[in-house]
Amino acid sequence: MGIGHVAVALSLKPADRRVNAGLLIFAAFFADFLLGWCVLAGWESYQVAADYAHRHYLLFTFPWSHGLVPLLVWSAALALLCRAFLRGSRAALLVAVAAASHFVLDALVHVRGLPLAGPGSFALGLGLWRNLPLELGIEAAMTVAALALYLRATRDHSRGRRAAMVVYVVLLAFLMISGQAAATDPPRRAELLSSWIAAPVLLSAIAAWLDRRPRGHAII
Ligand SMILES: [Zn+2]
Repeated sequence: MGIGHVAVALSLKPADRRVNAGLLIFAAFFADFLLGWCVLAGWESYQVAADYAHRHYLLFTFPWSHGLVPLLVWSAALALLCRAFLRGSRAALLVAVAAASHFVLDALVHVRGLPLAGPGSFALGLGLWRNLPLELGIEAAMTVAALALYLRATRDHSRGRRAAMVVYVVLLAFLMISGQAAATDPPRRAELLSSWIAAPVLLSAIAAWLDRRPRGHAII
């Protein structure tokens, strides 16, 4: 899933308005960030089906970054890191929820499924990518709902800042959804690695800047 992860992150903002949306977005993409490093290290891999132009999705072997038990451990580690730096246990909990939510969302769409406990374990996947219009429609609806929740939670932000966040997220949604729907050529390895490693950092940094609050109000 793509923009759906951003949607879940923004939806968590009302639970503690002091937590920066950029941090929540990075947490929601943390599994993909790890995937990039694991592929670089040779611990995980992806496969391009011969009929990729028809499918528009890849197949993965990614037990360490996307397996349920490993991802829960990663989520807890990220939350502990945030707790140490942010001094807020609620913020840490939200970060953990955002990171762990990646399993649920990806399990809905991945065709081969996500392993429960590591290499060779039972994989869970609903395979919504087989019906791409439905899957992308769900992600678009999630984005609209998440923006509504975000705007309700940030009434104390300036109108310009809130409008900028809406424009930013809608633009991201358009790029991610149209990018997957129109994809016919298999992505190159460098493109994939940058989309997993660099994109989460860049996307969350922009969101963090748009969601910044006056000094003394924000946890981060
Ligand atoms: Zn993923």
